[in-house]
Amino acid sequence: MAKTYKNFVAGEWVDAEGGATYGNHNPADHNDLIGNFAASGPRDVDRAVASAREGLRLWSRVPAHKRGEVLKRAGDLLVERKEELAEGMTREMGKPLVETRGDVQEAIDTAYYAASEGRRLFGRTAPSELSDKAGLVFRRPAGVFGIVTPWNFPIAVPSWKILPALLCGNAIVWKPAQDTPWSAVKFVEILVEAGLPPEVVQLVTGFGSEVGAPLVAHAGITGVSFTGSTEVGCRIAAVCGEKGKRVSLEMGGKNAQLVMDDADLELAIEGVLWGAFGTTGQRCTATSRLVLHDAIHDTFVDDLVRRADDLRLGDGRKEKTDVGPLINEDALRKVESYVRIGREQGATLRTGGERANDGELARGWFYKPTIFTGVDPSMRIAQEEIFGPVLAVIRVRDFDDGVEVVNGVRYGLSSSIYTRDVSRAFRAIDRIEAGITYVNGPTIGAEAHFPFGGVKDTGNGHREGGWPVYDFFTDLKTVYVDYSGRLQKAQIDT
Ligand code: NDP
Repeated sequence: MAKTYKNFVAGEWVDAEGGATYGNHNPADHNDLIGNFAASGPRDVDRAVASAREGLRLWSRVPAHKRGEVLKRAGDLLVERKEELAEGMTREMGKPLVETRGDVQEAIDTAYYAASEGRRLFGRTAPSELSDKAGLVFRRPAGVFGIVTPWNFPIAVPSWKILPALLCGNAIVWKPAQDTPWSAVKFVEILVEAGLPPEVVQLVTGFGSEVGAPLVAHAGITGVSFTGSTEVGCRIAAVCGEKGKRVSLEMGGKNAQLVMDDADLELAIEGVLWGAFGTTGQRCTATSRLVLHDAIHDTFVDDLVRRADDLRLGDGRKEKTDVGPLINEDALRKVESYVRIGREQGATLRTGGERANDGELARGWFYKPTIFTGVDPSMRIAQEEIFGPVLAVIRVRDFDDGVEVVNGVRYGLSSSIYTRDVSRAFRAIDRIEAGITYVNGPTIGAEAHFPFGGVKDTGNGHREGGWPVYDFFTDLKTVYVDYSGRLQKAQIDT
């Protein structure tokens, strides 16, 4: 019998009020029930926010480096349990073990970075404009944050938000994606075991409309850190805007890899295979457009199609699997509908374009790696986020044409150029409208100590990763100390 998992509120594992649950299944095998999870509602959110307010009171008084020590222990526990977490995460959301190990590693790196930030969390000083007066700026915990996360990086993406938020002395209420509650339970177990005081972290599982929406609108939270689709993110931003809350948004992408005629073509093919079909194309940074210089287009495509056909689909827990399933039936239907649209709008289907249902694959949401050529940049498959293993190949005349195509979408998360010409590479870095540009690497992949995020409809100017995320999760307090012993008036007694 499948296990039942609970919410974590006020330092205890508790059922949703009313006791409702929902079952979550392995996307590679519909018959495999992973567990039953709390199907929570607004009353659970109320309790969680009230508890987090108490958690904030306690935790914000703990010195930052002590908070960092707790996060260091969390990092150590993640290291110990990396394999167990990767196994369970692959069962829960499908990507191969090599990728789920990377997902956990990202959280480990983020934990150790956050732990060390406890001994920095720098403020500033500047000379006062008056004599015998000092000006200092301290960072203060900002409050209680609602954390809303997607399913494609079930531990890595939450860790980018939760660990910096905690290091800064905040308390949180986390609503994970409905498709990955198991990974969320395990992550919270680790935080608690690492020594986080009860009430600092609350986990409330369930659906976006039942948990996410009331959390975002709750008067008791200071702000929201969200990763997910642009559609949901913009809705959340509207609610936050109306209520004067801060909000950090990491949203969709339509990332392109541009390959010039002077590129190392073997390297570029390896890059696009990994970028387009890794995580079954379900990454915000996935390569969903391949922009090829006319001179190399035909041979490149022939080679790429052959190599894509060799990718092995299957259960991600088998070491030989290259590509796992899509996350659920809706995702599969979305991919099917975009393939239909691609054909109707006149693109040429070079490979894939159908479900993979040989043998065991029939029990999961598998779709063959799919490549369209003859794609016009205005077609919907070249403009809209598909979030599946579908690559649109666009032919361009030259570098300028290529950059224009790369920039011709509403999103601006990641991008890549393959070229051996250093001047061209720097021109691309200058001109491409994206938060991330790779030179001679695929569009996917991020390192924990570098800023991560996008421009245009991908984000709202905030960054995760590295140092900038600590700005989002702190308030600045400016302090003036006048030691002149007399009344000094700024701007008047200068
Ligand atoms: P969604 O936007 O559908 O969901 C994201 C989260 O928001 C989920 O927890 C979801 O809950 C919740 N949610 C849904 N509706 C609401 C609501 N009305 N109010 C509050 N919360 C809500 O995205 P996906 O989970 O499908 O993830 C895929 C998307 O995430 C893609 O667009 C991808 O590009 C983007 N993404 C962006 C990244 C980035 O850093 N830029 C990184 C990773 C993914 P539920 O699961 O219950 O629906």
